[in-house]
Amino acid sequence: MLFDVIVVGAGFAGSVIAERCARVLGKRVLIIEKRAHIGGNAYDCYDDHGILIHQYGPHIFHTNQKFVIDYLSNFTTWIEYQHRVQALIDGSYVPLPFNLNTIQQLFPQHLAMQYIELLIQRVGFGKRTTILQLRELSSEPLLQQLAEFVYQKVFLNYTLKQWELRPEELNPTVTGRVPVVISYDDRYFADEYQMMPKSGYTAMFHKMLSDQNIHYLLNTDYQDIVKIDFINKKIQLFGQEFSGLLVYTGKIDEFFGYCFGELPYRSLHFAFEHLPQIDSYQKVGTVNYPNDYSYTRITEFKKITQQRHSGTTIVREYPQRYDRHKAGADIPYYPLPQPTNEKLYQQYKNLAATWSNVIFVGRLAEYRYYDMHHVVARALHVFEKEILPKFSNQ
Ligand code: FAD
Ligand code: UDP
Repeated sequence: MLFDVIVVGAGFAGSVIAERCARVLGKRVLIIEKRAHIGGNAYDCYDDHGILIHQYGPHIFHTNQKFVIDYLSNFTTWIEYQHRVQALIDGSYVPLPFNLNTIQQLFPQHLAMQYIELLIQRVGFGKRTTILQLRELSSEPLLQQLAEFVYQKVFLNYTLKQWELRPEELNPTVTGRVPVVISYDDRYFADEYQMMPKSGYTAMFHKMLSDQNIHYLLNTDYQDIVKIDFINKKIQLFGQEFSGLLVYTGKIDEFFGYCFGELPYRSLHFAFEHLPQIDSYQKVGTVNYPNDYSYTRITEFKKITQQRHSGTTIVREYPQRYDRHKAGADIPYYPLPQPTNEKLYQQYKNLAATWSNVIFVGRLAEYRYYDMHHVVARALHVFEKEILPKFSNQ
C-alpha cells in the first residue's frame, strides 16, 4: 500500500488530521481535495490588485482554548485583531452585538437610561443573553418593547435573508451566536484569544502540510479515485484494495449516496469589489445590513488583515439556496440547524458508526455549525481518542 491514511478534504479538519498522522505517527497520508487549493473555506489569496482576500467570506480567528492556539502556532505567527461590526439600523451605523452603547446611540437619553437600568436589573451588568431569551425574559412592558425592537431591527430580517427562516424556526444557538450584551463591550467575539495568522491562512496550511509523508491531489473528487464497496465495507484506491484509514471531511450524506435523503444547506454568493485609491471604505471590518439591500453584510479585508495598500477590496455576501446541481450555488456553506435536519443527520451518523475504517470529522461530515477553532479542537480530539488507539493496536 502506498498510503496508510486517505484524507478527503484539505480544510481545517482534513489538514489537522493529516498533519498529526504524518508528524506524530509517521504515516503516509494522501489528501484528496476537489478544489484547486488547500485551506477549505478558510482559503485566502491575493486578488488582482494585491490585496489579501478571503475567497469564501471573512474568517476571523477566535477561541478560548489555548491548546488550539498553541497547536496552530507551530505553523504561523499572529497579529492581534479584535473584530468590530456595525449594523445599519434606522439610518445609523451602530455597534453590534447590541450592547449598552448601541442603546445610547439609538434612543433619546431618558429612554436609553430606562432601558439600561432595566437590563442591568433583570439580566445583570456584564452578562450576555440571546434575543430569544430576552423576548421571554420579562412581562415588564418597557423591556418587552426593547426586546421587540432588537428582534425586529437586528435579527428578523437578517435571519430571513440568511436562512429564509425566522429566528425561532432555527436552533436557538444560531441567533445566540450574536448575543445581546449588558455592558459597553462592543467586540463581535468575547473570546480570550482573537487574532489573525500573520501571513494568512493559506500560508499556514502550506506549513501544516509540508511534511514529506503528506501528498495531496487537488482538483480531484475523491469518488474518481476511491471506490467504496458499501456491502462488504471495503475501500479501493486507484483500483487497489486499501486497508488503511479513511478520514472523510466532505458532506456525510454525499458519502452514503444520499440514501436517507439530502441534508439541507445554505449557500452564498460573494461579490468582490476593488476600490482603487480609497484607503478606507467603512469604519469597521464588517457592516451588517439587517433591513436594507439583498446582501447581509459588507466586509473590508484590509481592516481585518491590517494590510497597507492605496486601494481597498470589499465583499458583499448574498445568501442563496444550496443546490448541488447548480453552478454558483453548489457550495454548502452552512448546515441548517433545525430538529428535522438533526434527526436526518443522526441517521447518517448511526450508519457512519458501523464503519470502523472511516472517520467523519468537520463541519460537513458532522453537519455542525462549527467555527474554525471548533474544527481544530475536534480534529485534535479525534486524533487523540480515535486515531492514535487504532494505530497503536496494530
Ligand atoms: P471545509 O473548510 O469546508 O473543508 C472541507 C473540504 O472538503 C473542502 O475544501 C471541500 O472542497 C472538500 N471536499 C468536499 N467534498 C469533497 C469531495 N467529494 N472530494 C474531495 N474534496 C471534497 N469560522 C471562524 O472561526 N471564524 C469566522 O470568522 C468564520 N467565518 C466564516 C464565514 C463564512 C462565510 C463561512 C461559510 C464560514 C465561516 N467560518 C468561520 C467557519 C469555517 O469556515 C469552518 O469552521 C471551517 O472552515 C470548517 O473546516 P472543515 O475542514 O470542516 O470544512
Ligand atoms: N444575525 C442577525 N443579524 C445580524 C447578525 C447575525 O440576525 O446582524 C443572526 C443570523 O441569523 C445569523 C446568526 O445570527 O445567521 C449568526 O450570525 P454570525 O455573524 O455568527 O454568522 P456567520 O458569521 O456564521 O455567517
